[in-house]
Amino acid sequence: MVDLDDIRQLVGARNVVDGPALRQRPQDFWIHAPTEALGLARPADVQELSALLGLCHAQGQAVIVEGGRTNLVSATQSTAETLLISLDRLDDIDAPDRQAMTVEVGAGAIVETIQQRCVADGLRFGLDFGARGSATLGGALSTNAGGFQALRYGVARDQVLGLECVLADGTVLSHLTPFVKDNTGYDLKHLFIGSEGTLGVITRAVLKLHPAPQSVNTALLAFGSFDAVAETLGLMGRDLHGTLSSFEIMWAEFFHFNVDALLNGRSPITGRFPYYVLCESEGFEADVDAALFESVVGRAIEKGLVADAVIASSSRQRQELWKIREDFEAEMRLFTTMIDFDVSLPLGRMEAFVDDVARCLNEDAPDNLGLHVLGHLGDGNLHVTTGLPTPEGKSEVRRLVYGLISHYGGSISAEHGVGLAKRDYLHHSRTAAEVATMRLLKNALDPKGILNPGKVI
Ligand SMILES: Cc1cc2nc3c(=O)[nH]c(=O)nc-3n(C[C@H](O)[C@H](O)[C@H](O)COP(=O)(O)OP(=O)(O)OC[C@H]3O[C@@H](n4cnc5c(N)ncnc54)[C@H](O)[C@@H]3O)c2cc1C
Repeated sequence: MVDLDDIRQLVGARNVVDGPALRQRPQDFWIHAPTEALGLARPADVQELSALLGLCHAQGQAVIVEGGRTNLVSATQSTAETLLISLDRLDDIDAPDRQAMTVEVGAGAIVETIQQRCVADGLRFGLDFGARGSATLGGALSTNAGGFQALRYGVARDQVLGLECVLADGTVLSHLTPFVKDNTGYDLKHLFIGSEGTLGVITRAVLKLHPAPQSVNTALLAFGSFDAVAETLGLMGRDLHGTLSSFEIMWAEFFHFNVDALLNGRSPITGRFPYYVLCESEGFEADVDAALFESVVGRAIEKGLVADAVIASSSRQRQELWKIREDFEAEMRLFTTMIDFDVSLPLGRMEAFVDDVARCLNEDAPDNLGLHVLGHLGDGNLHVTTGLPTPEGKSEVRRLVYGLISHYGGSISAEHGVGLAKRDYLHHSRTAAEVATMRLLKNALDPKGILNPGKVI
């Protein structure tokens, strides 16, 4: 193990946290047990990080880089022997280049701060998800986060033009180019994006931006069948002239649970329907966009696809609708032992998959506390959550659902990554040859296995 005094020499004593100060903080967003680690180092810049990793590499010291610790797969879980590295001091955001529509950002910057900085210059950073206020750019890139607007702007990977990162031995790879087209050999950035801190440490990126929309229109739609939901997605994608930015599905059990918990049961839509969708379009001409949105929702109703609809008439109402979709606090209290799945599936197989999960749970885990299904339907991504009264039976439920994901040709991790939580189930989505190739890359880039050991593979 490295000597913390050597680390203090490198980054300054004030920037090393250990002992009770470290133990006081919870491990991550979900796990409230105290953080176990040798210490936490906060380098000031890429040079300090490079020196720090060089030292750790020489001594075979295991390290875990952390951002906001909002990941949902125990990706930053440490042991008493691990050195944690936080990039919170690398959080600078350059002035956006308004003509080129790019911005250069440090990996420690908070996602919401990047969004706000870009909006101030009339630009949009195309990444948004519930943990925006705590998650960092480095974490979002390392997990290749998706979120609410992937339908319009793509996932984290799609926002990156250039990347700087540091290898396990301290070598700095800097390719902070602003080019859309750059076919100069292997595109190394894509190795590090989505690798959950196992191949290198991301320190900085040049991000691609978009014009900031000037109008937003939001509706909650109720549906009698899944087919009608799928057809409406196609209709809106086409008839909203490319302005559709979110299409978030909620199965009835989740929707009504949150309406009861958050709005005292006062649903924005009367009656009970099997499916609800929160959809949003963002455009550039307020009056035209509102009229178009209303007419497309009206057309979906006329065609008998949408059974009922509410269009938000104020930003307060819009926030209330989003709260039903985004707020998980009541769910976290309900599911004492929570078991969640983040699945990609072909659109045409989603309904049968969810029906099968419900049937299998009721047969094989009859003490389950319910089944909540929601997700980013426009990206083919569902979040499926259940709970048990006690942890006993958890692995049986995992085995059962991962088996069904495989059977339906899905992916066991759509956007949250693999971390520790899904590592042992990777074979459900990747072949032995693919996992062996991942291992080959890991061994080549991190031969001593010091970067986030035990995660992903
Ligand atoms: C309420 C809530 C809602 C969420 N919604 C979504 C959603 O809609 N879509 C989605 O995709 N995710 C979602 N997430 C998951 C989470 O927010 C993302 O995974 C996020 O990108 C993680 O960022 P972070 O800074 O917290 O990273 P951390 O959790 O700190 O780290 C995540 C992983 O990245 C690695 N890492 C962190 N920084 C670096 C770096 N600089 N270089 C290399 N590796 C690094 C860590 O080692 C770890 O493996 C949600 C989480 C919460 C709590």
